[in-house]
Amino acid sequence: GGTGFVGRALTQLLRSRGHEVTHVSRQGGKDRISWEELSHSGLPLCDAVVNLAGENVLNPFRRWSDAFCREVISSRVETTKTLAKAIADAEQPPRAWVLVTGVGYYRPSPTAEYTEDSPGGDFDFFSRLVSSWEAAALIPGSPARGVVVRSGVVLGRGGGAISQMLWPFRLGLGGPLGSGLQPFPWIHIQDLAGIVCHALESECLQGVLNGVSPSSPATSNGTFAQELAAALGRPALLPVPAWAVRAIFGAERAVMLLEGQRVVPKHTLESGYHFIFPDLTGALKDIVA
Ligand code: NDP
Repeated sequence: GGTGFVGRALTQLLRSRGHEVTHVSRQGGKDRISWEELSHSGLPLCDAVVNLAGENVLNPFRRWSDAFCREVISSRVETTKTLAKAIADAEQPPRAWVLVTGVGYYRPSPTAEYTEDSPGGDFDFFSRLVSSWEAAALIPGSPARGVVVRSGVVLGRGGGAISQMLWPFRLGLGGPLGSGLQPFPWIHIQDLAGIVCHALESECLQGVLNGVSPSSPATSNGTFAQELAAALGRPALLPVPAWAVRAIFGAERAVMLLEGQRVVPKHTLESGYHFIFPDLTGALKDIVA
């Protein structure tokens, strides 16, 4: 997933810190290997492995069909299994193995607050997807430190959720989705890349880290819409009705937008990570300026 939205930001950060990066990709190119090469020839000698691969779940041009669901699952679970096997089989295994999954692990609720220790993972399509994705990463007895980063909605320039919202908001046609009261777990892309880099470079870190900003538990979808509109100098008066979101994305997938989780990055902060963009106003200013 190194060629994707998060992968490009992480690659840039790692290279700026003097690391060498090789992508595993479906497309050939410089500093890339294919999934077939990885399966046949094994893992190239490396200090760490990160998996960011996954078919874009919120692609509005793909209907939420059985075939698309299977692609969403296999592009995450099978790539994770392939990497885990390559790590397990490596003569000189890497020291760290980082997987980025999602806060869809926790049950959407307007009130409950979740830390990395909270239960979840077995109540709807996305929670089960995260469970099988994280289970695929387990390598019993491996010396490679395992870290899972459960990410919220990634906000950044040139991709992700904001790129789809920017035009309606610029035209003054943006607004909250549904009631707008649902929590909006978010993280700035530089912080998600920063947390992965922190996980790679902190020799004792392992387990789950929530990849959301510290102010994310206090952010609702409505607050986000207002802040984005304010950052663009536009009004955000027009709510998008829940039925329209369901019509575009399908009911199962619309849950991601119409419901949300209050997620606290407890272990992330305890592990010593310092957020670059802890508050939404600053994050959005950076992105849309
Ligand atoms: P992108 O869609 O930008 O990129 C993901 C990469 O995955 C692509 O560049 C592609 O690499 C690879 N990929 C896509 N489809 C497939 C497939 N069918 N089989 C194998 N590889 C595939 O994703 P993001 O960078 O936004 O997200 C990275 C990871 O973080 C994903 O797993 C995502 O689920 C997770 N995440 C993202 C969030 C967000 O808001 N962006 C929120 C929470 C989690 P290539 O073409 O080189 O093969």
